[in-house]
Amino acid sequence: MSANSREAVVDAETDWSTLPGRLVVLSGASGVGKSTLVHRLIDRAGGKVRRSISATTRAPREGETPGVDYDFVTAEVFEALRGDLLESAEVHGARYGTPAGPVREALAAGLCVILVIDVQGGLQVRRKVPNALLVFVQAPSLEALERRLRERGTDDDAAIARRLANARREIEASKGYDVQLVNDDLEACVAALIATLAEHQCTGGSDRD
Ligand code: 5GP
Repeated sequence: MSANSREAVVDAETDWSTLPGRLVVLSGASGVGKSTLVHRLIDRAGGKVRRSISATTRAPREGETPGVDYDFVTAEVFEALRGDLLESAEVHGARYGTPAGPVREALAAGLCVILVIDVQGGLQVRRKVPNALLVFVQAPSLEALERRLRERGTDDDAAIARRLANARREIEASKGYDVQLVNDDLEACVAALIATLAEHQCTGGSDRD
């Protein structure tokens, strides 16, 4: 069955759990490799997985493309969007949120939609979309995480300290997640993520009932 034949009329009132596609939340500390993992997953998923693009008030980093990595918006625009967000949170002093409309449309088309968001957002998604699959990616250790953040070279010492403190809180909150993966080897972690999605029928195709 093609994805199109599954398309349903969806609006803001549609019960998320009735949509044919599956929502996946991927959380983990900054620097743990979530973006790379998701790029590789999407490359290998044959069009079945789509990443949601978040809105954020933080400034773009070098190498980031507006509309691809994030929709970079002002605080005023973010507040105007708020009513249309599936979830939102303040992380490291900036606001982030998932626009609900594009996620709903992709789920209606039978796709697996992946949200790369923090645990506050993940737990909001759990309440609104009970059948969402929540996956948390751990670094092998906090020391390894600190090393990766320093190697990435995008944050100063204060920002790294804030990200590490946040990582400790996230690890605690991730106990409410369905699956925990450890990223000590990127390829092995990509394989584990692909296997997890298949096992939970997230990428099982649009014939799933
Ligand atoms: P970064 O600024 O390093 O790209 O992201 C900082 C944190 O914000 C990461 O944990 C990232 O997953 C999270 N984040 C990115 N987009 C969203 C979003 O739309 N909602 C929430 N709740 N967190 C987000």
